[in-house]
Amino acid sequence: MSETFDAYVITRDEETKQQSGGWTQVSTDDLPEGDVTIRVRHTTMNYKDALAITGKSPVVRRFPMVPGIDIAGEVVASDSPDYAVGDEVIMNGWGVGEVHWGGYATYARMKSDWLLKKPAGLSAAECMAIGTGGYTAALCVQRLLDAGLTPESGTVLVTGASGGVGSFAISLLSSMGFTVAASTGRAEEEPYLRGLGASEIVDRNTLSGKGRPLDKELYAGAVDSVGSTTLANVLSQVKYDGTVAACGLAQGFDLPATVMPFILRGVTLAGVDSVMAPKARREAAYALLDKHLDRAKLAEITQEADIRNVDQLAADLIDGKVRGRLVFAVS
Ligand code: NDP
Repeated sequence: MSETFDAYVITRDEETKQQSGGWTQVSTDDLPEGDVTIRVRHTTMNYKDALAITGKSPVVRRFPMVPGIDIAGEVVASDSPDYAVGDEVIMNGWGVGEVHWGGYATYARMKSDWLLKKPAGLSAAECMAIGTGGYTAALCVQRLLDAGLTPESGTVLVTGASGGVGSFAISLLSSMGFTVAASTGRAEEEPYLRGLGASEIVDRNTLSGKGRPLDKELYAGAVDSVGSTTLANVLSQVKYDGTVAACGLAQGFDLPATVMPFILRGVTLAGVDSVMAPKARREAAYALLDKHLDRAKLAEITQEADIRNVDQLAADLIDGKVRGRLVFAVS
C-alpha cells in the first residue's frame, strides 16, 4: 500500500554543492530499506540535527535526506519477529539523519536491529527530551558503574557541565547518590548546575591549560565531554583505580596526556560512542534513565515546539539561543 505524507527533505545542488531543505510530500515507496515501518509520533532537535539542517557542517552524507536522529513512534508494518504493529519504539544513531532517512516526517522505515522498545516508565516525549545527549550521558554513567564506582568511591567530576551531555550526567549521578563536581566556563550557570544536583563548581579554566602529568587525586571518576587538555588534566586528577568516561571533543579532539595516570594509578580511560552502541548497552542506558532520571527536572528543561519551524529553530540552536531540549509532536 502506497501513501503520501509530509517530510522535511534536504537536497543538494550537485553543481554549486549548496544544500537546501523544506517540507514536501513524499511517498511510502520512497522510504529507505528496512524491515519495520514506524508512524513517527515525536522527535527532537539535537545540535547535530541543527548542523544538518543549516548545512553548517557536512553531517548529511547522502541526498535527498530527511533529518532527525531521534525518533519515537509506533510500528505500523513489520517483517521482523521482534516487533508487532502497535509496538511503541524509540531509536537514535546508526547514521539516521546522515545516511538513512530520519524522523522529520510522518513515517520512517528502519532496520529492526536499530530499534528499542520504549521504556515503560518514560513517555515518548520524555525519550525525545532525553535525546542523544541524555542517552550518551547514561552510557557514560553506565561505564562508571561497570567499573565499580559507587557513591562511596568519592566525588565524580563532570566537564562541559552546562551542555547537553553534562547536564544529564549531573542529574543522573546526583539522583543515584553520587557527589558531583561540575566543571563549567559559565559562572552564571551555577544555580542551574546546583539545581541539577552538583555540589561543587569547578572553573573550567583551571582544567583547560597545560597541567602536570600527575596532579592531586581529587575525583573517583569523571564524565568528560570536552577532550583535549581538559581530559588530560582530568586523568591526572583521578584517584587510584578511578575511571573516566570520555565521549566528547568540545575543546578539541587531541589528547595531550602522559601514561602516568594509567601506569602509576591504574586509571581507566573508557571511550563512549552512542551512534553504533550495541543494543544491550542501549537498553542498559535507557533502563538507567528510566530508574534514576528526575522527571520534574526533565520537564523544566523541555519545551514543546512546532516542527514546521525547524529552519528557524535550527538557526537559533546554532546561535546558542535555544535553552534546554526541544520536543516536536509529529501530527
Ligand atoms: P553542548 O554543546 O551542549 O555542550 C558542550 C559543553 O562543553 C558546553 O556547554 C561547554 O560547557 C563546554 N565547552 C564548550 N567549548 C569548550 C571549550 N573550548 N573548552 C572547554 N569546555 C567547552 O554539547 P553536548 O553536550 O551535546 O555534547 C558534548 C560533546 O559530546 C560534543 O563534543 C559532542 O560532539 C559529543 N557527543 C558525543 C557523542 C558520542 O557518541 N560520543 C554523542 C553526543 C555528543 P560549559 O559552558 O559548562 O563550560
